[in-house]
Amino acid sequence: MTIPDPDARAPDARDPADAQKPRPKPDRPVSSAVADPSATTVRHEPHEPGRAHLPQKMYEKRAAVHNKRIDGRFRRFKWAMMAVTPGIYYAAPWLRWDRGPYAPDQAVLVDVANRRFYMFGIEIWPHEFYFVAGLLVMAGLGLFLVTSAVGRAWCGYACPQTVWTDLFQHVDRFVDGDRNARMRLDAAPWTWGKVARRAFKWTIYLAIGFATGGAWVLYFADAPTLWREFFAGEAAPVAYVTVAILTVLTVTLGGFMREQVCIYMCPWPRIQTAMLDEKSLIVTYKDWRGEPRGSVKKAEKNPAHFGDCIDCRQCVAVCPTGIDIREGPQVGCITCALCIDACDRVMADVGRPRGLIDYATLEDCEAEARGEKPRSPWRTILRPRTLAYGLIWGAVGLSLLFALGVRSHTGLTVSPDRNPPFMMMSDGGLRNSYTLKLRNMESRPRRFRIAVEGLPGAVLWSDTVGKDDAAKAQIISVPADQTRTMRAYVAAPPGASAQDFTFRLTSLDQQHETAEALTHFSAPQGNSP
Ligand code: SF4
Ligand code: SF4
Repeated sequence: MTIPDPDARAPDARDPADAQKPRPKPDRPVSSAVADPSATTVRHEPHEPGRAHLPQKMYEKRAAVHNKRIDGRFRRFKWAMMAVTPGIYYAAPWLRWDRGPYAPDQAVLVDVANRRFYMFGIEIWPHEFYFVAGLLVMAGLGLFLVTSAVGRAWCGYACPQTVWTDLFQHVDRFVDGDRNARMRLDAAPWTWGKVARRAFKWTIYLAIGFATGGAWVLYFADAPTLWREFFAGEAAPVAYVTVAILTVLTVTLGGFMREQVCIYMCPWPRIQTAMLDEKSLIVTYKDWRGEPRGSVKKAEKNPAHFGDCIDCRQCVAVCPTGIDIREGPQVGCITCALCIDACDRVMADVGRPRGLIDYATLEDCEAEARGEKPRSPWRTILRPRTLAYGLIWGAVGLSLLFALGVRSHTGLTVSPDRNPPFMMMSDGGLRNSYTLKLRNMESRPRRFRIAVEGLPGAVLWSDTVGKDDAAKAQIISVPADQTRTMRAYVAAPPGASAQDFTFRLTSLDQQHETAEALTHFSAPQGNSP
């Protein structure tokens, strides 16, 4: 066999002129990722593998997936993700963060009663929900970025459904054994031994479900306190109901429905399918290299005819969603890459280069099939589309950080009374009433000066400072991390006209933070400005 000139134009199978020409078949490795430089493979003509298992219905009854144990670099990465992601989820409510005596010391807390969200040094108030919205936008953009760069990596490694399904599959393996033992047990009649195994396994499922639901409620209250109260039977009923619902949900979705959630329930695979393009990295079977597939024996008899795939189905056996990646990219593939680990082992055993199944772009697969070199993975990841997503993601993140850095810890809202809009006083002056909300977002009590500006001759008093002490400004204390609601009365001299004016709130500490609210002073129609 001859090695083609790399500078020569590669024959194009779609070009009728080229189709007539004999095509060179190198006996050197042409895979994009060859482990052993001395290993060789034969490039065959692009060949469409059979598509025997394409679903014919909108919903197909679930066939149990008994995926086989596999070891390899992607499996080890999944182990790491399985340690990190649930580890963070279960541990986060127990982390402490000192915010002083007036605020909770739980690092991550959704304080529903006081309408606060705490995350380490950040405290989000209800009127700052735009920060949460910004974080959600960043999460969405992050998924777009990851999907366009490395395909469905979120689904394959970090999605809770994937991680918990993986966990349940390991419980299956621990209790019932690996693939063949589980298949035999599934097909076996119900004996006391099988009942005992199932009861043991489902008890572990329930324990995982309970731990998952139990950890969730700890994000909504002081974790050590709720933990004690929960097991003493003193927690609020909503805690027990929430844990029960989440336990059932975890066991149902992760323990029993598993890949059906990804294939039928989750919208993300559909969205990602729309976002992938021919330059996105996906897990791909290189049919130009693997087809026609045939057993080792057949290939030994007729080596020129067969491709590298020995049809051992190890890639199918290890797949957690039970699909055959050789049938092409499909929605059931979560790109966990376990089939890459399996096939790489097979290729090593039969002395062929790794990468028959590999992370590759469709564009690179076509290039490789033509005998050309694939692009560098960095050029695949750092392309205009991913850079644009990255820039937008970074801009949103920096904007949020900037807004956090410059935000004021003082707030003021004012609501004028509408009925009656004004009162005539005995000296002929006019009085308007207002409800003021003074926000102290610091975790210490603070004193504020509240003043009336832009209303000539006006004085102010409140429900705690009597009319005798009415003045242009009053001093008010607001407890730590609280909003104080107060009634304020503003009196203007006789003949005052209707006009807008401002309440100005100034903190009497080193920060001298201010907040102001424009409002309206009502007067009889006859009073002219
Ligand atoms: S593991 Fe590799 S060789 Fe075996 S069937 Fe799958 S693609 Fe073919
Ligand atoms: S086909 Fe491969 S990458 Fe896709 S889900 Fe199955 S094992 Fe994971």
